Amino acid sequence: PSQKTSKPSWLKAVAPESVHSRFRELKETVTELGLHTVCEEAQCPNIGECWNGGTATVMLLGDTCTRGCRFCAVKTDSKPPPLDPLEPFKVAQALANWNLDYVVLTSVDRDDLQDGGADHFARTVELIKLVKPKMLVECLVGDFNGNLESVERLATCGMEVFAHNLETVARLQKYVRDRRANYQQSLAILKVAKDLNPTLITKSSIMLGLGETVMEVRQTMLDLRSVGVEALTLGQYLRPTPQHLSVVEYITPESFEQWKEIGREMGFLYVASGPLVRSSYKAGEYYMKNIVE
Ligand code: SF4
Ligand code: SF4
Repeated sequence: PSQKTSKPSWLKAVAPESVHSRFRELKETVTELGLHTVCEEAQCPNIGECWNGGTATVMLLGDTCTRGCRFCAVKTDSKPPPLDPLEPFKVAQALANWNLDYVVLTSVDRDDLQDGGADHFARTVELIKLVKPKMLVECLVGDFNGNLESVERLATCGMEVFAHNLETVARLQKYVRDRRANYQQSLAILKVAKDLNPTLITKSSIMLGLGETVMEVRQTMLDLRSVGVEALTLGQYLRPTPQHLSVVEYITPESFEQWKEIGREMGFLYVASGPLVRSSYKAGEYYMKNIVE
């Protein structure tokens, strides 16, 4: 695949201000209930498109992460404020009011909590299912430091899609992710979740443009398939601030298309691959079309 080194035209996304009232509606509920969305915290470039389309990624366990991945704009602290015990209710209440069929929940990593926040996260899913049984729930979770009880709590709480991101190829893990994360641990989390609950769709995401080689990306995809992962997203890494890792290359839209085909040939049921694709990008659209129907 060909390389580019200056920011290309295909990376321009719709500015949130230029979009219609759906955006404002979500923004108002999020602010009113004191919720956090990864769309805002991670400065996702798709916020206009996603929020107007009725997809938002709600962030649980507060807005402060105990980790410091070098690609991520979420604020970090080794001692974040305590959990809001009402958060599961507030999130379920917000979702009951939003006219959505599909929601993505994610969270910061809470290494300061014994179970990493797994029970709080799982209770949120259970409450959502209680107030809106038909709501499809995708959860993008951390690695819980390899705590398999936490993985089990989540894998069996009623969600439909269990997502955990490898983020990058094996060689670049230490450079890109927090030192507590690693490639084998992440693969193990995905495998255990699927083994514990084979009805789950497992999903992962890789950022491109961090200096990985084509062969390394291919190997990462094969490794994900080897632990039963069925859904994959590939997107361009974009530097959120000058304090974060530099972009090594801009991958062309054509190369992203090639990766999509390669992924399908490897047996992934679903591959979203494009410069602005993020883990949760159009997640509902896929799930509704390909799995439910
Ligand atoms: Fe939010 Fe995900 Fe859409 Fe980004 S891709 S705006 S994080 S739902
Ligand atoms: Fe960001 Fe890393 Fe924390 Fe996830 S674990 S929120 S990627 S700093």
